[in-house]
Amino acid sequence: SAKPDDLDEATWDKIKDHPCYSEEAHHYFARMHVAVAPACNIQCNYCNRKYDCANESRPGVVSEKLTPDEARRKVITVANTVPQFSVLGIAGPGDACYDWKKSQATFAAIAREIPDVKLCISTNGLALPDRVDELANMNVDHVTITINMVDPEIGAKIYPWIYFNKKRYTGVEAATILHQRQMLGLEMLVARGILVKVNSVMIPGVNDEHLIEVNRWVKERGAFLHNVMPLISDPAHGTHFGLTGQRGPTAMELKALQDKLEGGAKLMRHCRQCRADAVGLLGDDRGQEFTLDQLPEAVV
Ligand code: SF4
Ligand code: SF4
Repeated sequence: SAKPDDLDEATWDKIKDHPCYSEEAHHYFARMHVAVAPACNIQCNYCNRKYDCANESRPGVVSEKLTPDEARRKVITVANTVPQFSVLGIAGPGDACYDWKKSQATFAAIAREIPDVKLCISTNGLALPDRVDELANMNVDHVTITINMVDPEIGAKIYPWIYFNKKRYTGVEAATILHQRQMLGLEMLVARGILVKVNSVMIPGVNDEHLIEVNRWVKERGAFLHNVMPLISDPAHGTHFGLTGQRGPTAMELKALQDKLEGGAKLMRHCRQCRADAVGLLGDDRGQEFTLDQLPEAVV
């Protein structure tokens, strides 16, 4: 397909066969996630740790957690079976930059055995600045950061605590640290030519109007794409916004916000909030064909 006029060659090269970045590519190229990173260093009010991280995936589903070696077997099996396979992502179920040893071991094995697979990662950003050099060295060329606020007062309503430098922080102090680390991580990635997508979870009455400000900040700092996802609120899965619960946006509210952001960072409306163990084309999850018990013992 043809390069859109507003993109430079280097960027186009990175996204043209990446289903999550190119509306066009998502029909032809497949990504898979391996759920190797269950530990997380922050608490989001919309998260229930029993389920996948909502940063990049659909909350309320449980992905099959794998060791790095199990992930290696799974990726090789998928690469041998799904012809459109082009991208391997680690998107939780916790934070891939915090649960780093496992993410790193998985990427290193795949880079060694299937060097042409593109690697990408999603993160809440807190541990990101410490990983940027290693990510760049491993040729990870796409990173997704979930940024829900640039105002720590709003952040304090979304994040009850963070765990940073072996200490737990709460309230506005926690949100301030998280915000600074997210901006630093974003700037460091952009400076190294790594493509950054920013995801925001739209939480009505908490950060909905504020996401226009978030959009401006991340665009100024070089984010390639800003993707607004709806909070998926299901009392059975626990959203912790007070006892009365927190509703998600309606489809109309989501679209109205996305329309306001148009002209800002580009939007990815084909996002399907895929699972942390998703396999295949977006919207056509083949994860159930590749559960651990179905993988061959020896893979080559
Ligand atoms: Fe949950 Fe992800 Fe938030 Fe961590 S970053 S608390 S795993 S939604
Ligand atoms: Fe797509 Fe995000 Fe998964 Fe990468 S981590 S393949 S950008 S959904």
